[in-house]
Order: sequence, then structure tokens, then C-alpha cells
Amino acid sequence: MEVRCTPELAEAIARGLPLTVAGQIALPPPLAGIVVIARGGPVPGGLSLAAVLQPRALLRVPELIGLQTTRRRNGTVVEEAFAVTPGLLNQLVVSSGAWPLVVPLLNPSTPAYPVPDLAAVKRGLDLFATVLGNVVAGIYQAAGKEAPAGSLVLAPTGLGVETALAGLRRIRKGFAGVAARVPGQQPPGRVYTPPAEGEDEEEERGFADVGGQAEAVSQLEAVCQAIKDPQSYRRWGVRPPRGVLLYGPPGTGKTLLARCLARESGARFIHVRATDVVSKWYGEAERKLQEAFDWARREQPAVLFFDEIDALGRSRDDAHEATHRLVSTFLENMDGLEGVEGVVVLAATNRPEAVDEALTRPGRFDRLVEVGLPDPAGRQSIFRVHLARADRRAGRRVFEALDEGGWERLLQATEGLSGAEIAEAVRRALEVKVRAGATVGSISQDELLAEAMSVARPW
Ligand code: ATP
Repeated sequence: MEVRCTPELAEAIARGLPLTVAGQIALPPPLAGIVVIARGGPVPGGLSLAAVLQPRALLRVPELIGLQTTRRRNGTVVEEAFAVTPGLLNQLVVSSGAWPLVVPLLNPSTPAYPVPDLAAVKRGLDLFATVLGNVVAGIYQAAGKEAPAGSLVLAPTGLGVETALAGLRRIRKGFAGVAARVPGQQPPGRVYTPPAEGEDEEEERGFADVGGQAEAVSQLEAVCQAIKDPQSYRRWGVRPPRGVLLYGPPGTGKTLLARCLARESGARFIHVRATDVVSKWYGEAERKLQEAFDWARREQPAVLFFDEIDALGRSRDDAHEATHRLVSTFLENMDGLEGVEGVVVLAATNRPEAVDEALTRPGRFDRLVEVGLPDPAGRQSIFRVHLARADRRAGRRVFEALDEGGWERLLQATEGLSGAEIAEAVRRALEVKVRAGATVGSISQDELLAEAMSVARPW
């Protein structure tokens, strides 16, 4: 495998390249792949490069792999020796510059200084490429395998370090090793609830489980495409959607839509209750917020969902200093998602007028999607979702089919009800049977109507 550096990378580093993925390659066994990360100087005048080599399984290096390189320094030829020592390898980092010996420099927020001596950058890159190529060759040689073909081209890709981490994770699960060493990469605390693996409490499988809300579903389908196939947006030079604000009365399906988006796009769903964040102690709230974003970036593809966002962005004019900082942290993180693919942020509110205006500027929550109370057709399809779900759960038909007149009465009686209230009507109808001790039979349309009316007019 050849490692080659483009002149553009040298120039970008010289200009002060922030932490960026410079190249990635998947490899045949015994390695799984390599990710190279580069940045301009963490100190003025320096540059830093690191290549993380990830084996497929624990890799035994049986003997010292000696590597010799030659380079010129001030006109004289200098021989340099490098070694991969014998032992078990579960990850190898080849690095140059001040990093990752000084681990905190991995933190993307550390400023990257320009490196005025372009020639020195080029020399540094060439040496790094040679050493990396030799290390890879040595590993394959030690494993008795042929060195992989192909080349790893190092260039300023524009991909941030979160992408690098995600890339490494995809190459091989169990990447926790490196992630744990990166500051701010620890799993977050309690504020949000990443669902457990395989958790399927609500049984939703996708947008088909949302009744009505055709406009909102259609908007979220576009977001789904952006998560699954960001290239389809880039191809047309369009920025993929990043933030969507869902607004509407309580119980209309905002949370449901966000969950279904995650399901449809195969993304992780991270639910953050803004009120929980806000109620944290001074300083703690910002940290929690930061962690939520970090978590989403690391878990990409991810849908990060903020409930009751108005609690966070409550008009800043008269607000407390702490709220100010909280909104700023939120905005910084939203803006920091520029160029990060596979993370979308959804927020929901019942009070759109109370949402801080700064949050709805272009590039932030710039898609406002109304999730209103359902019309009769919407109510019918919400009923259908929940009736079918009840049948599925019971493993038999528990609701009698409704005829035209039955639907008409039901939809009339449920005027003004939300999806959550319709779901509640269905639940109550089932509960009546349970309480009556019934073991067979089904629920008639009149019985369902009676429960729907009890939800609509609770006297
Ligand atoms: P809030 O503003 O109070 O947080 P919300 O708009 O987020 O409410 P959800 O939590 O999504 O509402 O709705 C609660 C439950 O009601 C859902 O889990 C689902 O069972 C049912 N529901 C609501 N809307 C719909 C819908 N359009 N289709 C099917 N079920 C729905």
C-alpha cells in the first residue's frame, strides 16, 4: 500500500488546518483499516499527524519490525529507524508532531496555528507517509500476508474528527479504546435516554405508523434522505437539512415523528428533555447539552431530539445570564454541525412564539414544520394505526371492523382530539374488556365510540 500526500494537504496545514480527517482506507486482514487525522500546529509552527491502525482482531506481532527510512536534512542524508515491537496489538497509532503524546490536543476546539514553513510541512508529511507505509508493510509481512494493493491518499477532506471516530467505529466495533481517550468522548449522563439495543417499546417501524400529518411526514422524508444519502444533496450543491423545528399542540405526534425518522433512516434516536437540561445546576446544564451533541456526533447517524425547546431558548432579553450561556452553547453546537453528515437535530414546541429567534436562523432550525390537530381523514388514519396495533399485539382481531356509518360517528365525536387522545380512546376500550374479565369476543364500533366520547368530553 502506497501512502501519498497531496500538495493541498501541505498547503492547508500551513494555513492552520483544524483537526481533520486526512484519509481513510479499509484493508484486508489482519488489519481492518486506517484513519489518518491531521491538524495545523497546536503550537505555532508545528504540525500534527496521527494514523490509527485498526486490526480486525487482536494481532500478534511475533518479532520486532524494524523500519529504516532515509531523508535529507540540510543537505545531508539522515537514516532513521522505527520499530513495531513484538506483542499483542489491538490498535496502533503512528503519530508525528506534538500529538497524541499531548492527548488534549485531540480536542477539536484547540486552535490550529498556521505553519509558515511550507517546505518543512511537506518534509514532515513525506516522512510520515513513508513511515506509515513501512509500518503497514511490516505488519502484513509479519502476518505472512501479501501487502495490500492500493493507495491511501492524504488530502484535506473537510471531514471533522467526529467523522473519523465514526469511521473507525464502522471499521471495527469495539472502538471504545480510542474514543475513551479523547476528552469529552465519555458516554453522557442521564439527561437523555439513548434507547437500549433492540428496544422497541412503541413498536413503530416508520412513517406508516404516523396517522395523518402528511405534510410533516413528507418534510421528514427529505431529512431521512439526507441522513441515508447525503451525497444526493451534495451532488446538486444543496446543503442537507440539519435542523427541523416541529410545532403544534400537545399530543399531535411530534415526538412520534422524530422517533419514526430515526427508525426510517436507521439512525440512533437521542431524546433530550430541554426542561431537564435547564433545571440542572449552574454550569452543569451546559455540560449536559454539550455531551448530548458530542454523543450524537459520535453515534452518527443520529437524530438528536429536543423536547420543549422553548424552555431552553426562552427569550433572552430579560433572561438570566445562565440561560444566555445555555442558548449560546446550543447555537455553537448547532453551527458546529456544519459539514458533519448523518446528524440531524429536531426540536419540538407547543409555543413556537416563545422559541428564541436565534435558533431559527438559516443553518439552524431553518425548517419549521407544523404538526397540527388532525382533520377527519387524519383522525381516521390515526385510529387505523392504533386499532391495527391492538390486533397485532393481541394476535387476533380485537376490534370489529367499522362500517361507513360507524366511521362517520366516530370521526364526528372526535373532532378536535389529538393523536395522543385517539390512542387513549383505543386503550380505554381495551381496558374495559380487561376489567370485565372478558376472554373472547371483540370490541364493537359502539363500544369504541363510547370510549372516544369519554376522552372527548370527560364528565
Ligand atoms: P407533546 O407536545 O405533548 O410532547 P407530541 O406532539 O410530542 O406531544 P407524541 O408524544 O408524539 O406527541 O404523542 C403521544 C402518543 O400519541 C404517541 O406515542 C402515539 O401513540 C400517539 N399519537 C400522537 N399523534 C399520532 C399520530 N399522528 N399517529 C399515530 N399516533 C399518534
